Amino acid sequence: MTLMANTTIISRRGTFLDRGFLPVRNEVRVRKYLPFEFRMRLRSSVLELTKLSLSYRQIQAALFDSTHIWLSKGSISEWVHGIHDPSGGTNKFHTDPSPELAYVIGVIAGDGNLNVHGYNYEMLLSVTDHYFAKEFSRCLAKILGRPNPYRVRWSEQRKRWIVQGSSIILHGFLRRGWQTLKMYVEHCYRCIAFFLRALFDSEGTISRNRLSIYNTDRHLLLYIRELLSKYGIKTQYPYVGKPAGSILKDPRTGKLYERRKPCYTLALRTTDTPQFAKHIGFSIRRKNRLLPWPTL
Ligand SMILES: [Zn+2]
Repeated sequence: MTLMANTTIISRRGTFLDRGFLPVRNEVRVRKYLPFEFRMRLRSSVLELTKLSLSYRQIQAALFDSTHIWLSKGSISEWVHGIHDPSGGTNKFHTDPSPELAYVIGVIAGDGNLNVHGYNYEMLLSVTDHYFAKEFSRCLAKILGRPNPYRVRWSEQRKRWIVQGSSIILHGFLRRGWQTLKMYVEHCYRCIAFFLRALFDSEGTISRNRLSIYNTDRHLLLYIRELLSKYGIKTQYPYVGKPAGSILKDPRTGKLYERRKPCYTLALRTTDTPQFAKHIGFSIRRKNRLLPWPTL
C-alpha cells in the first residue's frame, strides 16, 4: 500500500498537527474536513484490508502506520457495509443532461462563479434580482439531488442576493468550461432554452422591445448566436460595444473601473423578440414583463 507519503495528521477538529506527533486515540470520523480524494483513497485501502480478513482494530493500526490517521471503527464499518459513500451527502451529482444542469452551466458562463475555500468547492451566484437567485438555487438543488432549494440570502453589505452550493464533483465538471459541455447544453431544445435563459438572465437586457446580450468572451456570444438560430432567431455578428480602456461605473457604489477587455454586444432584431419570449424568456420577472406576450 502506498498511502500518502506527504500527509499531515488531521485531528478531530480538523487542525493540522506535525507529522510524527502521536495523536493518542485521536479518532477521525471521516467527514468533510478530509479532502475528497484522500477519503476515496482511505476507503479503498480499508476495503483492501478487509479482504485480508483483518479485524477493525488491525485495520485501524495498519492505516495508522501508513497515514498517521486513526480512523474510527464507525467509519470503517460504514464503508465496509457500504452505508456511507465517502463522497459525503453533498456530492450526489450525476452527469445526466437536464434543463437544470444546462441552466447551471449557463449561469457559471454568465454571472456565476466557481470558488475554492479550503476543501469547500463552491458554486456561487451573487445578483440583484431575487427571482434569478431563486431559479439558480432550484436548479442547483435539483442536479445535486437535494430535496429543497438552497437558501437565497440577502447580503446587506453587497446589496445582493446570494446562493452558494458546494460539490467537488460538480465544481470539477463546471470548471471544464462551457466549451467542453456543449453536449449537455445541446441535449434537447429544452436544455438549449434553459442555457440561453441563464445567460440572458445574467447578461441580457431589453429596452424598447430590443434584446441584447453582452460579454467579454466573443466566442460565447458566437455560440449564443448559433443556438438562437435553432429557434429561427437571426442576429448580426457580435460587435465591440465598449472598447478596452473605457470607464465602467458601478451603479451602486459609484466607483469607476477601467475595462481591461473589450465588451461585445450581440443584438437581436426587434422582430425576433416574440420568438425569444415564446421559446426562451427570462427567469427574471422584471425583464420578462418587458417581453411582448401574445394576447389571448
Ligand atoms: Zn435536454
